[in-house]
Amino acid sequence: MTNKEAIIDRFLSYVKIDTQSDETSDTTPSTEKQWDLANKLREELQEMGMQEVTIDENAYVMATLPSNVEHEVPVIGFVSHFDTTPDFSGTNVNPQIIENYDGKDIILNKEKNIILSPDYFSDLLQYEGQTLITTDGNTLLGADDKAGITEIMEAMKYLLNNPQVKHGKIRICFTPDEEIGRGAHKFDVEKFGAEWAYTMDGSQVGELEFENFNAAGAVVKVSGKSVHPGYAKDKMINSMYIAMDFINSLPRLETPEHTEDRQGFFHLNAIEGDVEETTLHYIIRDHDREHFEARKQMMQDLAGEICNQYERDCVTVEIKDQYFNMREKVEPVMHIVNIAEEAMKQVDVTPIIKPIRGGTDGAQLSFKGLPCPNIFAGGHNFHGKYEYVPVESMQKAVEVIVKIAELTASGIQNSELKIQD
Ligand SMILES: [Zn+2]
Repeated sequence: MTNKEAIIDRFLSYVKIDTQSDETSDTTPSTEKQWDLANKLREELQEMGMQEVTIDENAYVMATLPSNVEHEVPVIGFVSHFDTTPDFSGTNVNPQIIENYDGKDIILNKEKNIILSPDYFSDLLQYEGQTLITTDGNTLLGADDKAGITEIMEAMKYLLNNPQVKHGKIRICFTPDEEIGRGAHKFDVEKFGAEWAYTMDGSQVGELEFENFNAAGAVVKVSGKSVHPGYAKDKMINSMYIAMDFINSLPRLETPEHTEDRQGFFHLNAIEGDVEETTLHYIIRDHDREHFEARKQMMQDLAGEICNQYERDCVTVEIKDQYFNMREKVEPVMHIVNIAEEAMKQVDVTPIIKPIRGGTDGAQLSFKGLPCPNIFAGGHNFHGKYEYVPVESMQKAVEVIVKIAELTASGIQNSELKIQD
């Protein structure tokens, strides 16, 4: 139903604009260059015929597609982000288009011998015969999340051009700075005015997510006593050894490299230390809120135990919550997940429902009062030179958006759809 060429053209025009965000910046957007795409999107939305097109002082772009039915329909929203990660260059993105992919190695860059191979990235094999968009090996692609933006834009264009498809009022928002965890920070949920929304920011076709980690960061400070090593007997206290006690007392197998699915972890991210003082930087992750709280408590208890053992106040733990599992906000309104699931099935996409081992802007939005599951945008291998997106997956995402709009207007609610765990 959606023109493949139109999707490709639109996507290419977005990824060629460098919108890398910067976590060291305090401004919003964190980089000036994000305005380039934000302003372009605002113009395109106006030209397309969307209503209430706004851009605020922080570069959040919003627009409305008015309802085309008489009866009352809940206002729904679609959200994606236009920044790309600071982890990898997004300057001079030079996309390669591989038509009718043959299932073999793709040479991204002959000179540098950079190859996108199904031997390593086996997901590629499910896209045989499809059209892939890749990088040239020098940059990321930016399908995260310019694929999501492309899909929302194309879906709105489709609905504007096809008034026979019935839908309620739809709000859309494009945000800056998602990649540095701030996409939701200045999101004006009240102004957006939707009952619920979906971020179009997942990976492979079919992904539907409404569970993510509970997350906290912990800074452990260990103090020692520095003395000249030649005169140190019974005087020196080496903070690095105490820090090692702390590290070794946490469950060694509850770390990212030993866990999957809904298993939580402690992740030692960085250490700085000398004899006088050592600092450990941890992140704590768990889908289960009780387990999450227990992990935080375990770190505090451990600090207390080590202080007792050394008979001095040598370890302090400072923990800051970062974000929470949106499941607790989505479960009471489970029909919003069911509608998305049903929409996928109706356009021949097999839903893949799984917990996210990370966070999303949707989680933060859910806690700001806008329940917001995450839907696939179609890309793979985010945040690096192997990033790629099948055009057919983007097409499917457009169809899913249109179908969600239709189903919502047709009055499908929780009573009509099976609630699934
Ligand atoms: Zn993203």
